[in-house]
Amino acid sequence: MGQQKIIIALDGHSSCGKSTYAKLIAAELGYSYIDSGAMYRAVTLAAMDAGLFDETSAPPVEKIEALLDHIDLELKHNPEKQRTEIFLSGRMVEDLIRRMEVSGHVSYIAAISAVRRKMVEYQRWLGREKGVVMDGRDIGTVVFPDAALKIFLTASLEVRTGRRYKELIEKGMAADFSEVQKNLEKRDHIDSNRDDSPLKKADDAILLDNSEMTLEQQMIWFKDLYQRIISGADDKD
Ligand code: C5P
Repeated sequence: MGQQKIIIALDGHSSCGKSTYAKLIAAELGYSYIDSGAMYRAVTLAAMDAGLFDETSAPPVEKIEALLDHIDLELKHNPEKQRTEIFLSGRMVEDLIRRMEVSGHVSYIAAISAVRRKMVEYQRWLGREKGVVMDGRDIGTVVFPDAALKIFLTASLEVRTGRRYKELIEKGMAADFSEVQKNLEKRDHIDSNRDDSPLKKADDAILLDNSEMTLEQQMIWFKDLYQRIISGADDKD
């Protein structure tokens, strides 16, 4: 498609298909795809590995802040698998961070301002040359408020639970439908109500409810939007 490189911000609720959609858009445009949620998940995994979570309580913020100084996080492109993978202290943790235990703790970690500051700094660095599709919760509102194209994706809770459940089962991970649904509701609640960078639609983001849409239909919708934006995007990022 077009020559001019822009930033595409794709925010929305948990498990509404953001990463699948973002990857397809990136492939279509020859852009890189950056999964910002993977970064918050990796910090959560580091906190779990350090034994900071116990059964009943979440760790105090100071402990997470202290841990942050020792976290070595890196996103690398794997040309063989044609995907970007996340590394924690040199260990590839792409699958480990998708576990339900991590999903259960991640929104607590993502609400901590020191964590957000560090992740946002890395995200902005990754997007410094544009030509990226980044998905998350605050990409259009905080990370790249001047992004030329912003989409806010959502779908009904039932559809989202079904998609997440299927994904876990297909990966051979343990999953219980009602547990998955509770986790999505809880994460969306914490993500939308935190003080720092809450999940919300940027004023200039375009809302897309994909509950009843196939990926093919979503791509047709996207290509139309992209053409319209790119033809008038000169004055924006
Ligand atoms: O996108 P994903 O569901 O993997 O994100 C996991 C969690 O990371 C979210 O529920 C949210 O708490 C946090 N997150 C965030 N800001 C982002 C991306 C993810 O707070 N930009």
